[in-house]
Amino acid sequence: MQKVAVIGAGTMGNGIAHVFAQHGFSVHLIDVSQQALDKALTTISKNLDRQVAKEAISAEDKQRTLDNLQTFTSIAAGVKDAQLVVEAATENIELKLKIFRELDETTGPDVVLASNTSSISITRIAAVTRKPGKVIGMHFMNPVPVMKLVEIINGYATEKQVTQQIVDLSVQLGKVPCTVNDYPGFVANRILMPMINEAIYTLYEGVAGVQEIDTVMKLGMAHPMGPLQLADFIGLDVCLSILNVLYDGFGNQKYAPCPLLVNMVTAGYLGAKSGEGFYKYTPGSKDLVVSERFA
Ligand code: NAD
Repeated sequence: MQKVAVIGAGTMGNGIAHVFAQHGFSVHLIDVSQQALDKALTTISKNLDRQVAKEAISAEDKQRTLDNLQTFTSIAAGVKDAQLVVEAATENIELKLKIFRELDETTGPDVVLASNTSSISITRIAAVTRKPGKVIGMHFMNPVPVMKLVEIINGYATEKQVTQQIVDLSVQLGKVPCTVNDYPGFVANRILMPMINEAIYTLYEGVAGVQEIDTVMKLGMAHPMGPLQLADFIGLDVCLSILNVLYDGFGNQKYAPCPLLVNMVTAGYLGAKSGEGFYKYTPGSKDLVVSERFA
């Protein structure tokens, strides 16, 4: 594989395009929004500058990486000649199914179609195509250029040879692949989200405050970030939506989202991206300040 199309140029798409381009792949980055594409190229360039400053790559490597990138606003034009498509568009099931129907029409039978979805069933996505054996989950972690893990998700019908191809490819990208099966939340979020939910319940029930909960988990369990801060970073709406996938998928009460989380999302307190969640975020400041609602 040498030619890769990445659909969606947001947080994850720009990182995925960056990593492929840096490893010598010709990358077509596709988004419906020209603004998102422009922003992605600026972000990639800045992140490459950081790598140059740290002497992780040379200035020539940076230029070579940028030369490997081309942007498109049309899926049909962008996926032409691609041997692999990695979809990283907005997490919305109807949107993903629509994109995969279009990919089924616009790519050849051997082109592998991967999704970076955090929570949508790969089997469900694959079922709208005529080549479910070629559909697979390739779940990168944020920030993609930094995080080593790629959770590779086998859909019910994914061909073994396709899994092997994606495992080898992930290694080629300098990542560590872990192959798992397609059940709600896969592995990463099935374990992470109940922990975050439990941290929110612990706060909701008044067992401890925001700072105490995060400090216990940071210093006691050697987590680099406490679960409430991590929830703010991921986005509380994203956490709620993944918990609902687990709850609906398993029908088990243990995944029921904490009412406090539901309230915060309903009120628009989504974490870092909205300026307030469990902590309050001030542009330009790196200080971690607990929201006054929990002080
Ligand atoms: P984002 O909102 O930052 O970016 C999504 C991009 O998709 C936007 O630029 C949007 O314009 C584009 N888009 C929407 N419809 C499109 C279409 N029809 N064709 C092409 N582009 C389209 O989202 P994100 O955080 O980068 O998430 C993308 C995917 O990655 C989701 O499936 C999400 O679950 C998954 N994911 C996110 C994270 C994370 O931490 N953000 C981590 C792992 C996986």
